[in-house]
Amino acid sequence: MTARLLDGTAVANQIRAESAPAIAAFTARAGRPPGLAIVLVGDDPASAIYVRNKLKSAGEVGLRTDLERLPATASLDKLLSIVARLNASDVHDGILVQSPLPAAMGADAERRVFDAIDPAKDVDGLHPVNVGRLVQSRATLASCTPSGVIQLLERSGVKIAGAHAVVIGRSDIVGKPMALLLLHGNATVTVCHSRTVDLPRIASEGDILVSAIGRPGFVTNPFVKPGATVVDVGTTQVSDRSVIDRLFPVGSKRREVFERKGSLVVGDVHPDVADVAGALSPVPGGVGPLTIAMLLKNTVTAAMQRAGWAG
Ligand code: NAD
Repeated sequence: MTARLLDGTAVANQIRAESAPAIAAFTARAGRPPGLAIVLVGDDPASAIYVRNKLKSAGEVGLRTDLERLPATASLDKLLSIVARLNASDVHDGILVQSPLPAAMGADAERRVFDAIDPAKDVDGLHPVNVGRLVQSRATLASCTPSGVIQLLERSGVKIAGAHAVVIGRSDIVGKPMALLLLHGNATVTVCHSRTVDLPRIASEGDILVSAIGRPGFVTNPFVKPGATVVDVGTTQVSDRSVIDRLFPVGSKRREVFERKGSLVVGDVHPDVADVAGALSPVPGGVGPLTIAMLLKNTVTAAMQRAGWAG
């Protein structure tokens, strides 16, 4: 391996530590800590783990945390009534509804729920008002994962201005806000997706390559310009041994974890890319911890703004 590993856990810890004085100051002045409410619908095991990690991390830095749980059979109206109650709450500054919602809630359920969250409390940055502000480069609450990627790049000394950045994936949660944040950092940005023709060639023109598609090991060496910075956002729970065989050699640590647990969270980027890239944000230990750190940061920002104390 030749690539420098970008340490997402270390950067996330820095951001959490920097939030501590603001949280203490807010708590002293307001007589209460900034509050984060998370709503979890159904029993998707991966979502349950994400939510547990978010609540734990928020509690550790001194935020008030409340979890609202609904069964998978809950109606969309019930969920919307909880969002309305949290919108009106004085002690909750941030509201996060964990996605995905159960399919039974309907194809447009997520959009309707995200639209119903008060934009001032939208710590996921998914409300159209906050997305519009992001487009105009005046967002204060931007989507957590792409914001975390920018923090990782900047704090690891990767130059964004003037770089050609290629983003694979165009979702509202990751791909599009990622492209906008890189553009606002003065990169020249190309967005690729499932209908892009000759994706490896276009990807290999990137000085910075961000992959957010959710396909294990999809990004292989031909996708990567030698020396480029590669950020792996994808996370897929893999239990199919043939995928593990394709990605991890016998005797490797990742393979040992798979043998022990029967499944493994795998990124979009093939491990061999570490031989071509100049820097690499891996899975795990890359972007994941930053998503949580940015959620905490956004909650503090929302609390300060709601109180009228933001600079
Ligand atoms: P999504 O399914 O909404 O979007 C996937 C995108 O990938 C689409 O825009 C699609 O066009 C593109 N795509 C799919 N197959 C492709 C292909 N073969 N070639 C090119 N493009 C292709 O997913 P999402 O919510 O944007 O998440 C993407 C990945 O990032 C997932 O693996 C998800 O688990 C992960 N993720 C990780 C974090 C984290 O904190 N680490 C946070 C959010 C999402």
